[in-house]
Amino acid sequence: MRKAFPAFAALALATAGHAAPGPVPVQPEARTIPFGALRLTTLRDADFNAANDGKTFGIDASPNAVARVLMEAGLPGDSVPLSVDVLLVRGITGRIVLIDTGLGPKMGGKLLASLAAAGVLPAQVTDVLITHSHGDHVGGVVGSNGRPAFPNAVVRMSRQEWAWMQGQAGSRAIVNAIRGQVRPFEPGATLLPGIQAVPIVGHTPGHSGYRISSGRAHLLDIGDTAHSAVVSLAEPEWGIAFDTDKKLGKAMRRTVLARLAQTHELVYAPHFPFPGTGRIVANGGGYKWQPADK
Ligand SMILES: [Zn+2]
Repeated sequence: MRKAFPAFAALALATAGHAAPGPVPVQPEARTIPFGALRLTTLRDADFNAANDGKTFGIDASPNAVARVLMEAGLPGDSVPLSVDVLLVRGITGRIVLIDTGLGPKMGGKLLASLAAAGVLPAQVTDVLITHSHGDHVGGVVGSNGRPAFPNAVVRMSRQEWAWMQGQAGSRAIVNAIRGQVRPFEPGATLLPGIQAVPIVGHTPGHSGYRISSGRAHLLDIGDTAHSAVVSLAEPEWGIAFDTDKKLGKAMRRTVLARLAQTHELVYAPHFPFPGTGRIVANGGGYKWQPADK
């Protein structure tokens, strides 16, 4: 999710609360879930409405087909509502870890206020793990002054993602700001005690999920393997414009969702309804979302 932001930002911010496409400001919020010896906290950054115009969700279906799926879930058919959330991991000795950074303050992201609500200062963050380099995941790695928002943190992303990001003209300012902080990793690397990278490429060339473990507790942060808790799960075969490799994105979505429905493990999805934790359940030919707090 990046292409739509600049074009729609002004309109969306002016009509916050309606279903205009683009980012929608939210109240800062931090919600902690028990997780073995760790503390996982979901931080609310923004909401985002993707227009149901045949150009984003269901690009090989039709807006009518997408609207039908939305309305069956009790949602208006004209747009696909997404959350933008960030995961905070505490309890690893000496580390305070963020996974992704949201839209950034220039786009109205509330990550820093939500982080403050969790009692953490930006300078205390030691590790920023990036699922992929789209603006709604790396935007908040810099502050409103364009300088690193987490000055004492190492920024981790896969080697392939960092290489790809450096070739994207739209990422140049952020690349230059964080270059000295970035430490790329090999796909599947164990990054910290209890946090392992899980390569799930297709959405972007170096997209990575993260598996977090503590004792018998396990959670997979799937990043943007699936965007909408409604559309992407009901119809995982539908292409989505945000995937750089549509075919591989689909194949990965199919594989990962099938496995998660089988293992029934805890999942965190940054674009699913806040706080974004729950489980994938098989439903007809597709899947549905079972929020952890229900
Ligand atoms: Zn995204």
